Amino acid sequence: MVHLNSAVRLLDKAAEKYNDKTAIADEWGEISFAELQKQGKSVGTAIINADAEGYMPSPVMVYLKKSISCIVCFMGAMYSANPYVPTAYDMPANRIQKIVDSLQGRGHIITDANGLETLKTMDIPETISIHVYEEIIKTEADNVLVEKTLSSAIDTDPIYIMFTSGSTGAPKGVTVPHRGVIDYAMWVAKTFGIDKTSVLGNQAPFYFDNSIFDIYSCLLTGAKMVIIPETLFMFPVKLPEFVRDNDITTIFWVPTVMINVANSGVLSEIELPKLENVVFCGEVMPNTQLNIWRKAQPHCTYANLYGPTEISDVCTYYIADRPFKDSDPLPIGRACENMRIIILNEQNEIAKTNEQGEICVIGTGVSLGYWNNPEITQKAFMQNPVNPYYEERIYRTGDLAFIDDEGLIIYLGRKDNQVKVKGNRIELGEIENAAMCVDGVKGACAVFDENKQQIVLFVESQTDFKLRKMNLELKKYIPNYMLPSGLIVMDKFPHTANDKIDRVTLKNSLKTEA
Ligand code: AMP
Repeated sequence: MVHLNSAVRLLDKAAEKYNDKTAIADEWGEISFAELQKQGKSVGTAIINADAEGYMPSPVMVYLKKSISCIVCFMGAMYSANPYVPTAYDMPANRIQKIVDSLQGRGHIITDANGLETLKTMDIPETISIHVYEEIIKTEADNVLVEKTLSSAIDTDPIYIMFTSGSTGAPKGVTVPHRGVIDYAMWVAKTFGIDKTSVLGNQAPFYFDNSIFDIYSCLLTGAKMVIIPETLFMFPVKLPEFVRDNDITTIFWVPTVMINVANSGVLSEIELPKLENVVFCGEVMPNTQLNIWRKAQPHCTYANLYGPTEISDVCTYYIADRPFKDSDPLPIGRACENMRIIILNEQNEIAKTNEQGEICVIGTGVSLGYWNNPEITQKAFMQNPVNPYYEERIYRTGDLAFIDDEGLIIYLGRKDNQVKVKGNRIELGEIENAAMCVDGVKGACAVFDENKQQIVLFVESQTDFKLRKMNLELKKYIPNYMLPSGLIVMDKFPHTANDKIDRVTLKNSLKTEA
């Protein structure tokens, strides 16, 4: 493939080659590649026209219900040579406000009539242009203007800014380059044999990096992407039926969804002859449930993918072509194309075989850093300590692992307070910060109960809070998926010798409770 300066060139090629073929389907309708290009260019034209000066990137925040319209806006942002910022419709206004604040008065918001009502309650600088989707889409596309704008794009420019949980309470804007996404899409297509006959069943929300797998491998190959209705994930027993009825050939879901489907018992009662690839990423996939899938649908390829948002989704993979014992770890495997993994020990040296260390990533997918936040960027992205010869950026993931005798990477867990709940990345610090905003809370400590795979919030307070009431308060600051499942109110927290909250004692008290 010729060198591409923007990922939206994948859509240009697909529109030329596949024209009226369906690109995306959602529960409300379908859109062809040609129509997606046309509507994307309309949005792009409106954004270019609204930009005062077109040199610095002007992020395009997309605040819409998950649907085809979101993808139209992402394409529009790219046609205007700007990064898009995917958000979720049900994010609390407070979190949306923090995302808007980090744009520092620059950029655009695309929303609909409902979203507009929420935005009215917020503090949006006048320098940020607000566009109503139903109107912007009617803009007549100016192909010459779009081409002129796009001709100055470089593949190292940001394609999107994806906000993930931040330990200080403010979400972090991971800024990813086009090149990372293009290379990733090529690797996905090659590894899983995605072509124009493929149908991908999208589960990942668009503010979650796993969605990149679906969107861009379809644009690259002419495959169709089916956005699975979000409500269906509450009924795992119905998901395989949806896969069958929509001729889905590849699914890339978080393990939580895979586990729920396996546990529902439906897999042994249904035939999914068209399903070829069952791919998962985002958290540990237990072998017990993977073996249920494998036994029920033996013809599929099963793959465990690993990677954080900071490296454009995925940097290692393991094709699980043999069954594992329930108690064995499922490897995260080896590096993907255009990516290299080094495991650094505590001395910042390459760890030996079987020695534990931190997973560090090098490659075209490594992001540009956190939007507008050089301080945290410098901590996570740095010069490769084992390369004194030239500038080589690595991303320190905070994940611990070792390489086994077969050369496979085995994931061990986190170094810090980041956890995964139902596939969602959560910094416990963000929950604690939210709790500290609640009247009557003097101290807050969120811990992860490994047995129950859920978050328990300890608060120091004289008020007798109940979980429901606390969560109603927390919802003003954090998304639903971050809400704790347990609450323990204490008069006073235990402290360590150097006067920090004694997290270990609090966590151990959960074991005693059980
Ligand atoms: P996110 O940025 O939301 O994609 O989350 C990235 C984090 O999820 C990684 O740093 C890991 O801690 C975890 N993770 C991703 N993939 C896997 C996997 N296959 N196995 C275990 N943990 C994973």
